Amino acid sequence: MDYSARLLRSFPVSTGTLCVEFELLTPGFSFRAGQASLFSFPPEFPLADKSRIFSLCSAPSELPTVSIATRLTSGSLFKEALAKSRPGQMFLIGEATGEFVIPEEARPKTLVFLAGGIGITPFRSMIRESRYRKNSPFRILLLTVNRSRADTPFLSECEAWMKERTALWIPVLTQEGLPPAGSRQERIEEGLSRILDMAGVESLLYLSGPPAMVDAFHQILLGQFLVEEPRIKSEMFYGYLAH
Ligand SMILES: Cc1cc2nc3c(=O)[nH]c(=O)nc-3n(C[C@H](O)[C@H](O)[C@H](O)COP(=O)(O)OP(=O)(O)OC[C@H]3O[C@@H](n4cnc5c(N)ncnc54)[C@H](O)[C@@H]3O)c2cc1C
Repeated sequence: MDYSARLLRSFPVSTGTLCVEFELLTPGFSFRAGQASLFSFPPEFPLADKSRIFSLCSAPSELPTVSIATRLTSGSLFKEALAKSRPGQMFLIGEATGEFVIPEEARPKTLVFLAGGIGITPFRSMIRESRYRKNSPFRILLLTVNRSRADTPFLSECEAWMKERTALWIPVLTQEGLPPAGSRQERIEEGLSRILDMAGVESLLYLSGPPAMVDAFHQILLGQFLVEEPRIKSEMFYGYLAH
């Protein structure tokens, strides 16, 4: 089933990344933090390729408002139209799907979220939900990988989570913040090493972002840190080409 929604507002959350908020008008939509939905312009909208899948980056407790965030990749007619859309523009939102969610049981207690760039979106939903519920049984550790602070989506929110201890946050900046100097790979490995030390071997590791970044995390975790496959859950943002 599709749910009607109206665009409320959109605003940048880092260089070239837009967050878009919608108000659901059709009752009955529900989702678990971390899930994704198909977002479509209505059938009469003059665009051939009308739909994209996005992770919901707002929390279920914020319904009937839902938000997404996306990198405005050049050449995407869908994203051009999205960026030009004004408040009041109607959209259709499909049922939320996916297993990239927090476990039902509070075991293991520590969750490690590894976000490559825009891959922070499902984690923002999970962290906002856990912040809202206050009594979350989980300890959340978040590692974000971006080129620079300006490129880091939801930077000020990450800082606030860190400050109020909702999540322990390690930002890896691959083209900023010397010393220590190091290649992109070295910086990512250093960040992973710190976060895995803090997390312990009982933790569950969540990987999210464009496929190239998720693959890179995955290979490092298995190859360098000898993490066992069942501890890893991945969400690949298919549709993003290799970067
Ligand atoms: C589970 C999931 C969650 C996602 N969450 C996010 C998110 O939170 N933020 C975000 O920015 N992106 C997310 N994506 C990726 C998103 O769906 C787009 O693929 C991506 O943003 C690139 O869009 P584009 O318009 O730049 O692609 P374009 O380069 O314009 O698209 C190129 C071609 O690929 C096709 N295409 C686009 N997306 C997909 C797809 N997902 N699967 C198959 N074909 C596709 C298009 O129809 C087009 O023909 C997610 C994808 C998945 C599968």
